[in-house]
Amino acid sequence: MALALDDDVKALADQMTQDRRDFHMYPELGFEETRTAARIAKALRAAGIDEIQTGVAKTGVVALIRGRIPGKTILLRADIDALPVAERNDVPYRSRNPGVMHACGHDAHAAMLLAVARILHARRADFDGVVKLVFQPAEEGPGGALPMIHEGVLENPHVDAALALHVWNLLPVGQIGLKAGPIMANTDEFSLTIRGRGGHGAMPHLSVDAVTAAAQVVSALQSVVSRQVSPMDSAVLTIGTIHGGERHNVIAHEVTMTGTVRSFSPEVGMALPGMIERIVRGVTSAMSAEYELEYHRVYPATLNDPLATEVVRHAAAKVVGLENVIDAEASMGGEDMAFFLQKVPGCFFFLGSANPAKGLTNPHHHPAFDLDEEALPIGVQVLVQAAMDMLAS
Ligand SMILES: [Zn+2]
Ligand SMILES: [Zn+2]
Repeated sequence: MALALDDDVKALADQMTQDRRDFHMYPELGFEETRTAARIAKALRAAGIDEIQTGVAKTGVVALIRGRIPGKTILLRADIDALPVAERNDVPYRSRNPGVMHACGHDAHAAMLLAVARILHARRADFDGVVKLVFQPAEEGPGGALPMIHEGVLENPHVDAALALHVWNLLPVGQIGLKAGPIMANTDEFSLTIRGRGGHGAMPHLSVDAVTAAAQVVSALQSVVSRQVSPMDSAVLTIGTIHGGERHNVIAHEVTMTGTVRSFSPEVGMALPGMIERIVRGVTSAMSAEYELEYHRVYPATLNDPLATEVVRHAAAKVVGLENVIDAEASMGGEDMAFFLQKVPGCFFFLGSANPAKGLTNPHHHPAFDLDEEALPIGVQVLVQAAMDMLAS
């Protein structure tokens, strides 16, 4: 792998690995990242950065690095939370917090942004404008980006563009994946209760069977994606849980189910709840049952600005070579970087982190997820390069 890494980036590689492993050993769930945030703030101070705000959206940390003279402000964001997953890796840096694990790689994101902070603070005489570093809590839920925006993270100074990366085990280390337009999905959740009238299993005509009604609803909901969303658009509707009934010979009074709904285009995202409710209303009505539908919008689609994406593409090509900058396939996963990119232009991109030769291929959120730490200096170099190019443009 022929990489173009600056000497100060290479010099920080060991420190980055140490930071990442420390975060990995002490993972914390969303809005509980107190140790993680304290360690980040301490490291920023130790690097000589003095404009640091802690406790933003409970456990977020924001730091400013000012260049020579005022100019644009570029926001660089890392999410810092872990998942309620019990780690199955047998490594020295295995999670010390039972049932909690950095199974998505946000430990690496925090370590990389700390390295970016050290580098840009040392190089602050070489650029104009401001770099705003945002260590964001609770990406995996319930979401830290929106409360950070509500607390003013996009102002003082006003942010002109935002960048973030995600380590990505669908790509080998040494590759960068990105695309203009939607890269992560609009993600919604719903819970649905169907109510009938319980009764004796032998006398269905005297009852309203919630199980039969629910079965029809589950089948009919499959036609939302297949028959109502345009074949040119993408969408997913998954019913993940269904519960109902007490006994083999009792007609169920109630069935509850929960599901997730995904899409890319904002128009489809807006239309889906109505499509779902129409089917639920019609089918339950035909079966003499009643329903209660709660629909929650979780994260909007993450939309990359075409110009910002071109800046990152060029920056990435300088680091890994143009042949290793891949047109990424968008993911149906959700990502609350979406909220930043609703407000300011920017780019969210994938940093290849898999390495089949080292057995590092497990998907994100897997209990034995791990990543190739060789990816970290690459991510730092691309972030530094892209931020500098944006400030100069
Ligand atoms: Zn995740
Ligand atoms: Zn993640």
